[in-house]
Amino acid sequence: MSTTAKELLPLIRSKGKDDKYSENLCKWVKKWAKQRGNRELTAAFLHWSSLDGSHVDMIHGTTQMQQFLLGYYDDDGWFYGARLSSIVGGAAEVYAFPLSFKTTPLPDWFDGYVAGGKCFIDPEHRYYCERWQVAKNGKTRVCEWCGGVTQRKTIHRKVVKETRWVAL
Ligand SMILES: [Zn+2]
Repeated sequence: MSTTAKELLPLIRSKGKDDKYSENLCKWVKKWAKQRGNRELTAAFLHWSSLDGSHVDMIHGTTQMQQFLLGYYDDDGWFYGARLSSIVGGAAEVYAFPLSFKTTPLPDWFDGYVAGGKCFIDPEHRYYCERWQVAKNGKTRVCEWCGGVTQRKTIHRKVVKETRWVAL
């Protein structure tokens, strides 16, 4: 997921700066639960079916993040869901993906998100600087989203050599 964190994290709106979860994702899951009863919510990665030439090529110009779906599999094997990037952006539409759209279920993803929140999407804590609370002494900072990651500041001095041409 870390390859998609750079794209996904800036889209996420939360209630507060230090909130662990996406506000829109919470709303969507509640709405979805109401509509779909007790069907299990799952994440799935959408692959293109190269065997079926009648579909529009979704892969062209589609980023990896846009292939990441949240929804459920119906009894007939169809996947009903929305793009995660649209869900966190607050404008999700649910689409039905027939069997010709190959998907790989990612059954552990949602549990991981529930446990780890936004930091589950970026476990290396590489992106989104606004998550940090710097200590008063300015030497360390702690992640406000998960509270479980602290970093210390290191200073690297760089010597830059510069070549110039000057008049004789
Ligand atoms: Zn964190």
